[in-house]
Amino acid sequence: MSKILIWNEYLHEVENKSVANYYPNGIHGCIKEFLSQDSTLNIETATLREENNGITEDKIKDCDVLIWWGHKAHDEVLEATVNRVQKRVLEGMGLLILHSGHHSKIFKRLMGTNCNLTWREYGEKERLWICNPGHPICEGLDAYFELEMEEMYGEPFQVPSPDETLFTSWFEGGETFRSGLLYKRGNGKIFYFRPGHEAYPTYLDKNVQKVILNAVKYLKPSKKIWEDIHSPTPKSNRPKPIEPISKKGFSVGHPTEE
Ligand code: ZN
Repeated sequence: MSKILIWNEYLHEVENKSVANYYPNGIHGCIKEFLSQDSTLNIETATLREENNGITEDKIKDCDVLIWWGHKAHDEVLEATVNRVQKRVLEGMGLLILHSGHHSKIFKRLMGTNCNLTWREYGEKERLWICNPGHPICEGLDAYFELEMEEMYGEPFQVPSPDETLFTSWFEGGETFRSGLLYKRGNGKIFYFRPGHEAYPTYLDKNVQKVILNAVKYLKPSKKIWEDIHSPTPKSNRPKPIEPISKKGFSVGHPTEE
């Protein structure tokens, strides 16, 4: 079984009836519902205004893939939460960042850039072209698929060059956008997937659901998540020298025990 945690800001659905019409159980509830068709996934959810943003040490320690949807309250995510998530990604946890999560603290932390882009909320058609049909995340898709109503995101998308671009989008207004980007940070794989504006029924779309399910399977660590322990006194982590050595010089701050 893979452990999946779906994190959602969960404000639009509570505050706006039209959003709640599409997502009566929240975007996290919708994603959980279609992912639940895969019986190998053990799925939990968490939301912003739960204690510790719903991401406790216990909840994330053996999480294989974290899915992140946030938009209007990125600032409410605690630094401690960002640190906790970053540590797990570096140790090997997969991270799927959806739509406006491009401006989440955790994505910006992991990218090291402002992740800015241009946008237009006009309910226009989006056509997503598949750049690598052989990639596991693109499995089962045609050469392209369309969403009748989406928010436009346009270039320049100010992220580092990805390891691979899996989707590029064309919008009715003429813009294009790199909408499926893969990164590796430490031992963890990160996938940014663009569609998913809260005012449109994007997560009810079968192709979008397929991409998210494929991504979850691809992003999970192939082995048990590595544990990042840094000891200031490195006795426990220090391997025995292969060749005989005698200590020379002196240590300041972190003396190595004899
Ligand atoms: Zn949006």
